Amino acid sequence: MEQLRVALVGTKGRMGRAIAAAAAKDHPSLTIAAGLERGSTLEPVLDNCDVVIDFSVADATEAICTACAARQKPLVLGTTGHDATQRESITLAAKRIPIVFAANFSAGVNALFALTRRAAELLGSEFDVDVIEMHHRTKKDAPSGTAKRLVEILAGVCGNDRPVSTQSIRAGDIVGEHTVLLAGPGERLELTHRAASRETFSVGALRAARWVVDQPPGLYDMEDVLGL
Ligand code: NAD
Repeated sequence: MEQLRVALVGTKGRMGRAIAAAAAKDHPSLTIAAGLERGSTLEPVLDNCDVVIDFSVADATEAICTACAARQKPLVLGTTGHDATQRESITLAAKRIPIVFAANFSAGVNALFALTRRAAELLGSEFDVDVIEMHHRTKKDAPSGTAKRLVEILAGVCGNDRPVSTQSIRAGDIVGEHTVLLAGPGERLELTHRAASRETFSVGALRAARWVVDQPPGLYDMEDVLGL
């Protein structure tokens, strides 16, 4: 596809602004064709867009999924903090359109996912596992979507033998920090990722947008986009 036209939901937010800046800087062949905020409707702009990127609020997800599925538009979903009903609307829509739904679009965090899986496999059940996350004081959900994904990965390896606890800190303007702590007798391993700016998420979201337009319907994550 020559010029990828993006409808960006949450355009005035921190991530919306970071994505617009990344699109202008690094992706001359990608254009933000429409920017949407609370109160605007997606349907009228969809015919002139190839893909929707959403970084807004979990309450908006059901309507976005319904609109994208009805018009057959691929979706990159970065919003976090969904309840079970909202997650179900994502699963349903993914039967009709391709959706990349990722708790974290940074390449480094997706490497952290893979390393966490491997460390848990190597260290066995004698190690206690904790996930510690820090974000800026205005982040709405806790624990973060990334912390929940780390817990899912650890539960996938350890089953219910080792309950994983999470600690959330909300302070200042921290962009995002996640540590997986594996503590055993006489030693501990810490895997930490620190995001220094939102650029890492926005570049990843644009990469996901380019990738998702060529996929069949289904629910994908950033590990699929990166081929991890
Ligand atoms: P933010 O509060 O700065 O921005 C959210 C924007 O969405 C605001 O401009 C708000 O007015 C707008 N909005 C609210 N309701 C809306 C609606 N119904 N329709 C359209 N727009 C609406 O938040 P942020 O820091 O940009 O984060 C947005 C979301 O992205 C959060 O859920 C956050 O956790 C998530 N996030 C995900 C990643 C990732 O890599 N997946 C990275 C950072 C943030």
